[in-house]
Amino acid sequence: MYVEELIKSTNAYKIISGEKKRNSLSHAYLIVCPDADYLREYLKVFARLIACDGDGCSRCRVCKLINEEGYADCTFYPKEGSKILTADVDDLLSQTYIKPIENKTRLFVLSNVENMNASAQNKILKTLEEPPANVCILMGATMDYTLLPTVKSRVKRIDVPPFGDKILKNTLIGEFSDIKRLDKAISSGGGRLSEIVRIYNDSGVEKTTSLCRAVLSEMRSSKDAVKFSSKIDKDNLTQFIAEMKAEVMRIIKLKLAGLLNDPVLDAYSIGALLAIEDLLSAKERAVSFSSNVQMTVDTILFGILEEKHKWLKL
Ligand SMILES: [Zn+2]
Repeated sequence: MYVEELIKSTNAYKIISGEKKRNSLSHAYLIVCPDADYLREYLKVFARLIACDGDGCSRCRVCKLINEEGYADCTFYPKEGSKILTADVDDLLSQTYIKPIENKTRLFVLSNVENMNASAQNKILKTLEEPPANVCILMGATMDYTLLPTVKSRVKRIDVPPFGDKILKNTLIGEFSDIKRLDKAISSGGGRLSEIVRIYNDSGVEKTTSLCRAVLSEMRSSKDAVKFSSKIDKDNLTQFIAEMKAEVMRIIKLKLAGLLNDPVLDAYSIGALLAIEDLLSAKERAVSFSSNVQMTVDTILFGILEEKHKWLKL
């Protein structure tokens, strides 16, 4: 329920709702929202809005079927896994020529299109350029820079930016009853529902997340690195690395969207952040084989320092 309430509060929802009322829905939308874990759920709210006789009521038969991804006039991709494959696009293309069975519109919902490779994107391009009548393609992406400019120019892009603290609190309070924990989760969740739910459910994560943020914003010298090294829980290094990666990805996405309001973190270039992400991924794989945890921690911290300074000089 809270997912629906949150999405209904967005400008994105208001835009599409207005277009539906005026009978001027676009043939293809690109919903850009940084929260990968909830993207498909969010898209369902938009799909219900488009297909429902009412205003995406969530109670009627059509809405319920869309929720279960079982409505005949609404197909979801990828069918399996997290990546839309060429086979998914082939399936979509063959279905666009079939008239809707009972709805006015035949709806295709594509989640995580940022993972589509160029050949799959090229394949769908023609349909985006000359969409058959009564077809609506709803694409969702966590970021848009992996999409071909030709694809982007054929869709109506609508952003769902991170949610504000106030709407999050008002919406989530019914479901997450520990107000203190909810407040904390919202304050460090960066407006992302998946992050907030995760932090709310795991108090250890919250501590690690703030440590990761401190490393990125406060670590300036090797002396600082030694200080932070002592604070990292060596028995739970996997969590530290995972949180660090999540934090770096969060900063990358905010930076790309021009939403990063933190001058200290803004000093990290995209290049530096991607290099740090690479380093963390390498260490994430190595950590289960390595017996020297302290060395892994030091490699990570000094690696972050090095990238930060290397890219600053450029
Ligand atoms: Zn409905």
